[in-house]
Amino acid sequence: MSSTFIDYKIGVVGLGFVGLTVATLLAHAGFKVVGIDIDRSKINLIKEKKTPFYEPSLEKYINETIDKTLLVSSNYDLLGETNIVFITVGTPTKPHGEQDIEQVENAVINIGNIWRNSNSYRVIVIKSTVLPGTTRKIIEKLVSTYGYRIGENLGVAVNPEFLREGYAVEDTLRPSRIIVGCDEYRDKNSCTIVSNLWREFYRRININAPIIEMSIEEAELVKYSSNVFLAMKISFANYIANICEQIPNCDAVKVLKATGLDPRIGLNHLNPGLGYGGSCLPKDVKAFISYSHRVKPRQLINETTYCYEPLILESIDKLNNSQPYRALEYLIREYGDLSNKVIGILGLAYKPGTDDIRESVSLKIIEKLLEMNTIVKVHDPKALENARKYFMERIEKGEVKAERSRIVFCNNYLDVIKNSDAVIVTTDWNEYRNIKPDEYLEYMNIPIVVDGRRIYNYREFIKKGVKIYAIGLSNVS
Ligand code: NAD
Repeated sequence: MSSTFIDYKIGVVGLGFVGLTVATLLAHAGFKVVGIDIDRSKINLIKEKKTPFYEPSLEKYINETIDKTLLVSSNYDLLGETNIVFITVGTPTKPHGEQDIEQVENAVINIGNIWRNSNSYRVIVIKSTVLPGTTRKIIEKLVSTYGYRIGENLGVAVNPEFLREGYAVEDTLRPSRIIVGCDEYRDKNSCTIVSNLWREFYRRININAPIIEMSIEEAELVKYSSNVFLAMKISFANYIANICEQIPNCDAVKVLKATGLDPRIGLNHLNPGLGYGGSCLPKDVKAFISYSHRVKPRQLINETTYCYEPLILESIDKLNNSQPYRALEYLIREYGDLSNKVIGILGLAYKPGTDDIRESVSLKIIEKLLEMNTIVKVHDPKALENARKYFMERIEKGEVKAERSRIVFCNNYLDVIKNSDAVIVTTDWNEYRNIKPDEYLEYMNIPIVVDGRRIYNYREFIKKGVKIYAIGLSNVS
């Protein structure tokens, strides 16, 4: 058993936001990489040098690597020659919040099967976000199914991912930290091999990235600790914003900026808004709540009851589930009944810089507006097609009860604004930041704007005669 590989032959299983970015950038740095995904249409797109989702600058890297150092396929057999494989498949939540690890299990079992006749030491790296304890279960499954000997002919490491969609390339090239977890007693070699791979990658691109090694469980937990903290900051900011609206002469933007300037607190993720969405924070908070309930010990004295309750996590989640509907409260305050009003929605992606609509707050708002029998006009610079597909499918299945004609997909923001009775800004794309109050005034039926992301100078809007409701801002009307 060697302490590291002389030659890394890398596999990446699951070519979504994480996997495709990691596979492409490793290949771009000169490593030989095989990327596997069960979705053949995705594979075909990548082979045509196209990114299956919007991620700035990734296409350029795919262009420069595909069929050179990067090979992509749906055929797991190609992993036969690899000696280290990253698992980057999805880990969604089930309806009651528990984590669904079926994709990870399937991927690992497939790899275990491909490698089972080899006696040389190889490493599986879990990069997907998994709850503490999951990787141990996967190890047990590999051992019981194929008889692997951990630390002898198989290593398993955890290497959680922290990239942000919209900045996937940038974050992978300049990470805040690399976390590597392994079984320190039976299989320390996995840590060494994974750390050395990343050390070599960053040496090649001349970047200094801190690498921290720890146990499997610690590495699994770091990812939840990080994401829950970010979600907590957002929900906290939104709570302060909601309170600010009840206090005269208060603007949450100012209050939170002054709060965040304290270096102990920090300004990031401390803006008033309609809540967080996306493929990570909502599901990770929910999965961690469900997990916390399961691991909660029996308290031995009454005084410690609340030490073990995941109350903090549940509050983050509850506030975030309600926050999008704040936008509708303004409109109800304004109009009472919203039926047959024309409401414009600017933004469908869960944040700017992506076409990802998973758990986007605008989906919740639109669905509620449709329930209220309004006509909804929507736009997004990148996510319009994803949203169209989402709503058409849901309407067809009867999951959203509305006629198709009640939701109008517009190719530009002006078509949303035209003849609307109110517009809600749900995603802070620059394109929307640049809309002047004059445009709202000229084209809207009634110029009422809900600034759900605090992108506008509200004084300018009021001066021009546009009624503006801004999240976290009191007495402006
Ligand atoms: P994704 O849904 O975009 O991609 C997952 C891919 O895996 C899909 O292309 C799917 O077809 C493929 N897949 C599923 N089962 C497979 C199998 N058995 N074999 C091969 N391919 C299979 O997911 P993502 O957003 O890239 O996230 C992947 C993991 O990384 C998740 O655990 C997520 O929580 C975590 N993560 C995501 C982000 C993010 O910003 N998206 C950031 C950090 C961590």
